[in-house]
Amino acid sequence: MSDIIRMLPESVANQIAAGEVVQRPASAVKELLENTIDAGATEVRLIVKDAGKTLIQVTDNGCGMSEGDARMCFERHATSKIQTAHDLFSIRTLGFRGEALASIASVAQVELKTKKERDEIGTQLIIEGSEVKSHAPVNTSNGTSIQVKNLFYNVPARRNFLKSNTSELKYILEEFYRVALVHPDVGFTLYNQDKVMFQLHSANLRQRIVSLFGMNYNQRLVPVEQQTNMVNISGFIGKPEFAKKTRGEQYFFANGRFIRNPYLHHAVEAAFRELIPKDSYASYFLYLEMDPANIDVNIHPTKTEINFTDSKSIYAILQAAVRQALGKFNLTTVIDFEQELSMDVPPLKPGQVIRQPQITVNPEYNPFEKKKEFQPSLRFDNPGKFTGSQGGRENFSHDLHRELNIPPAPLADLIDKLGTGSSPGLGLEFGTENHELFQVANSFIVTETPKGLMIIDQQSAHERILYEEMLDSGSNDNNLSSKIIPVTLSFSPDDAVLLKDLLGDFKTLGFEITEFGNNDFVLQSVPHDLGHTDFHGAVEHALESIKNELPGKNAVKNQLIAKALAKSTAVKRGSNLKKEELEDLFRRLFNCRIPELSPYGKPVFFVLSFDELNKKFKS
Ligand code: ADP
Ligand code: MG
Repeated sequence: MSDIIRMLPESVANQIAAGEVVQRPASAVKELLENTIDAGATEVRLIVKDAGKTLIQVTDNGCGMSEGDARMCFERHATSKIQTAHDLFSIRTLGFRGEALASIASVAQVELKTKKERDEIGTQLIIEGSEVKSHAPVNTSNGTSIQVKNLFYNVPARRNFLKSNTSELKYILEEFYRVALVHPDVGFTLYNQDKVMFQLHSANLRQRIVSLFGMNYNQRLVPVEQQTNMVNISGFIGKPEFAKKTRGEQYFFANGRFIRNPYLHHAVEAAFRELIPKDSYASYFLYLEMDPANIDVNIHPTKTEINFTDSKSIYAILQAAVRQALGKFNLTTVIDFEQELSMDVPPLKPGQVIRQPQITVNPEYNPFEKKKEFQPSLRFDNPGKFTGSQGGRENFSHDLHRELNIPPAPLADLIDKLGTGSSPGLGLEFGTENHELFQVANSFIVTETPKGLMIIDQQSAHERILYEEMLDSGSNDNNLSSKIIPVTLSFSPDDAVLLKDLLGDFKTLGFEITEFGNNDFVLQSVPHDLGHTDFHGAVEHALESIKNELPGKNAVKNQLIAKALAKSTAVKRGSNLKKEELEDLFRRLFNCRIPELSPYGKPVFFVLSFDELNKKFKS
């Protein structure tokens, strides 16, 4: 029988390697940027078109390559950075595997132009799918310029697998930040669709962070500095009061390389614990320098996960360094966020499973039949809205229940569950008599109904009201938003990219936000009821909820945003409400389509029946 094992053609081997090295445009960007640093460049220009799908171009003023090297660099395992296995333990460059250019050239159309300073003339090389199409002398400036066109043009499966331009651009930005944050002394320019997105001049680290993430970062940063025999730690942490609802800027670098290390992350989180609310995240930009022999960088192909020989000690040193920095700046005693803590539902973590509310289903049940009984007796300022929307009401309920993942539940059952025993009906058949409202514990609204004592949770009630009013405001003629003194909102660039995409959704909810350039936005109007709120926090919370959207759940974006905004802007338990405010809240609640549930599916009120009250007092 003849032999069946044979060597794969080089181009196939390269494509297989590319699967590991180049997953998306951002991976090519990372490799190309790292090569410019390894080449000693001081000025780097990155150009992307269509989130790198059409073009990624990186130009540097680094050492350039000789004619021979220009050809060699596309061979697999061709590197100038190590020669022996021993060198692996003293790596100071970003690359060393010699795989990046070979991989990229196997899945794209690549043009390289390069020249060393001492050479008169440079070299141009055109390669498509590992095949050299042209190799010629060229007039070019010192340094290297690489164009990567039509990534994955010959691997349609991978190309189809790419996400939207917005998402792919976010990945690219993330790689760009990582390189720019380690090399503040290097100038970087990023062009996106022919427009300058970042122009970063050679600077110190603080200036670099500010030019990447916004001017307001300047006042947020606290320096960290710790020198020990084992490791030197430097960089900045964000002051606790600026902790964000989004897991934003958290960066570790070890020997000039971005790393992911949950263990070290834990050390920093532990130092911040008790200083920031549970669902907030502190920013940090921390740089570890140590003998390369104490790091094993080779355990992961893209090299962001690394091992330390003595992680325990590094953990302890890091935590102490962050604590000390916080202590030095007197940040440990000034913050009281008790109230804040009680008000927020932690955002869903990726992969977290939502527990379905346990409610019995009666498929025959039509909740609206019963509700009609009490509608005419309630007095509304705007009864038109209530009666006119009957058709939409059903749809809305349907949507809501689907959204909450609960079947349209018999409301009476729900109330039963809450222990009222008030059926049939909801005990909501108000007469035309005066019903006074009382606030108790600054948290609940209590009133009498013909069936019993109604107790309303003011916070859930207000969330329901805001949620529905926001969703209505876009479709209604009587737009409920009102102009405010414009507030500037600054976001990290990736949040800014996300927000730009969502401006239309925010607008339909009554939030008029306009771009102001440089990741800044101006908020001009908000739903009229919102008064003085932390709008920045609210928008951030909404962005977070979009990011945490469960994959495949296909939730409607503006509903997600409305929910999050309602949650963070609603009046909280513990706030004293005036009589008129109680009445307003009550009236608007029962003007809602689904007054009995908060947008997150929590009960808004229940009725303690007179029967039950009687039972309590029977001897
Ligand atoms: P690695 O960086 O792991 O060595 P690459 O495939 O990224 O592998 O690059 C191969 C070689 O090409 C590098 O070792 C370097 O000598 C050369 N090279 C790549 N990019 C540049 C550049 N921008 N300037 C000068 N030389 C470069
Ligand atoms: Mg490289």
